[in-house]
Amino acid sequence: MSALSLYFRQIKSAISSTRKGLALTWKHAWNARNQRTIQNVQHADYFKSNEGVFTLEYPHQEIPTPVNGRYQLHNEMDDCIVCDKCVKVCPVDCIEIEPIKATGLVGYTSDGSPIRLYAAKFDIDMSKCCFCGLCTTVCPTECLTMTSEYDFSVFDVKEHNFSFANLSPEQAAEKKQMYEQFVAEKEALKQSSANAALAPVEETKPVAKPAFKPIFKPKADASTESSPAEEVKPAAKPAFKPSFKPKADASAESSPAEEVKPAAKPAFKPSFKPKADASAESSPAEEVKPVAKPAFKPSFKPKPPQTES
Ligand code: SF4
Ligand code: SF4
Repeated sequence: MSALSLYFRQIKSAISSTRKGLALTWKHAWNARNQRTIQNVQHADYFKSNEGVFTLEYPHQEIPTPVNGRYQLHNEMDDCIVCDKCVKVCPVDCIEIEPIKATGLVGYTSDGSPIRLYAAKFDIDMSKCCFCGLCTTVCPTECLTMTSEYDFSVFDVKEHNFSFANLSPEQAAEKKQMYEQFVAEKEALKQSSANAALAPVEETKPVAKPAFKPIFKPKADASTESSPAEEVKPAAKPAFKPSFKPKADASAESSPAEEVKPAAKPAFKPSFKPKADASAESSPAEEVKPVAKPAFKPSFKPKPPQTES
């Protein structure tokens, strides 16, 4: 083959490849009039759209994330019972929790689980996370979930450490102090009242038992025995009985209290009787009434005869 024929053959190959390339370019340029539909990767027609513009104008356009995607973690602290299971199962130790015991029940989660611990610290370092999803699987209250947020790029890697604790440092210190005080008081009660106070309680019990037994026996046989405690009871009973009897027969007895009652009753009776029989008595109050009654009667009788004449 001569050099001249080789030269023209290469020109022909270049023109042919250029024609194929331009044909493909013009084909895509013609199809670029339409853009590929933004569909979720789980959509049935996701791989059927082979024509049109594939490139998305991110962040103005985004492909929806799958429902079961593993992206940024989020913990809903109101439903977290601080059980520490997520920390134990994490293979890369990117979750750190600092629990504080409460002196009582803190509250309930949305599913009714009791909360008995505070979380002074609940940090997840997403720069270490391998997105295995084990922590969300073992969470008993399902408060730890993976969100659809996948773009959490930062300039400093330390900003990938997300904190979810709902207690401020001051509140955490206060809760910690309250629990330490609660434990100290509990131990003081166990040591002082339980151990030291048990000895004097045992000494008083044998003394108290014999003292109660003789007191209950004389109460049952009070009429036949002559102990000093029994002498007081029979003396009190007759003292009350005679005091009630003279009250019922007040007129026959001559006690100082009975003398006042009969003296008051006759004093009122004579005072009412003379009022009804005002004309027969001569008291200064009775003399005014009989004088007034006859004065009115004659005054009415003479009036009718005066008008007739
Ligand atoms: S997804 Fe896996 S690696 Fe990430 S925090 Fe949870 S358990 Fe740890
Ligand atoms: S497993 Fe769930 S409830 Fe337990 S500490 Fe972790 S996030 Fe909280």
